[in-house]
Amino acid sequence: MNQVYDLHCHSTASDGSLTPRQLVLKAAQQRVNVLALTDHDVTDGLDEAGQAAAEAGIGFVPGIEVSVTWQRLTVHIVGLNIDVNHPPLQAGLAKLLEFRNWRGAEIARRLAKSGIPGALEGAAAFAGGKILSRTHFAHFLVDQGHAGDMGEVFKRFLVNKKPGYVPGQWASLEEAVNWIRQPGGIAVIAHPARYSMTATRLRKLIGEFKELGGEGFEVVSGTHSRDEVQYMSRLASRFGLLSSCGSDYHGPKNPYLELGRLMPFPEACVPVWESERWPLRPAKG
Ligand code: AMP
Ligand code: MN
Ligand code: MN
Ligand code: MN
Repeated sequence: MNQVYDLHCHSTASDGSLTPRQLVLKAAQQRVNVLALTDHDVTDGLDEAGQAAAEAGIGFVPGIEVSVTWQRLTVHIVGLNIDVNHPPLQAGLAKLLEFRNWRGAEIARRLAKSGIPGALEGAAAFAGGKILSRTHFAHFLVDQGHAGDMGEVFKRFLVNKKPGYVPGQWASLEEAVNWIRQPGGIAVIAHPARYSMTATRLRKLIGEFKELGGEGFEVVSGTHSRDEVQYMSRLASRFGLLSSCGSDYHGPKNPYLELGRLMPFPEACVPVWESERWPLRPAKG
């Protein structure tokens, strides 16, 4: 039987708008068979999601999406089948949280200087957990009428050279891969077509990632076009990477992106669930 996998999505533990339980129920409705919850830099939603998945009878993979700075660019590394109790992972996430909190205050300070006071409290009111994301600032700014929608608010306020953008250092690529890989998880380069980098740079990223022990490539993402999927599948084959697929669902507010509704892999792809270390082995029979 054809199984439906969605291995990248977000809950209120980071910048999604459904709670972990609501997200799992939505996945069950969408006939997803295996779901990975991959919140940004936090594992707080995994217990609730895992319990809800057991109750709903769907497969659950504990995951994360780690923010990385590589060659001054932000890159996201998804971890699948992570060990939540791995001390270096939690120590690293604590440092990322510290940076996020400092950055949040700094974003608010810069917005205040450009005439928008109260952004820290305003953004925090949209956060459902301890992670304060640019997404929460975006919700606050749209709510206050400073922009019409999420796309516009990012462009005008929250990207490089705009008042609400604060550069800084996330985890290194090596740290992120180690936190995931050392206790037996699988590291995956998230939405590879979303980075503003040249083809040469992307190949360099993949080369370093592989050398560090990274194994997966998100060939199919809800944010990828058909052409991007084809291109990424060729890169996965060329570098011998396992292919992953995930919607990057953040909740029902974004009408373009649906949980569990993904393009199939191009033929040459080897799915990440065929890895020896995939947590849910299919029943032999
Ligand atoms: P942060 O990790 O706090 O810097 O926030 C990054 C998050 O902002 C991403 O995970 C996306 O969910 C969201 N985001 C980034 N760019 C856009 C955009 N143009 N439109 C909507 N959401 C965006
Ligand atoms: Mn996000
Ligand atoms: Mn991402
Ligand atoms: Mn994501």
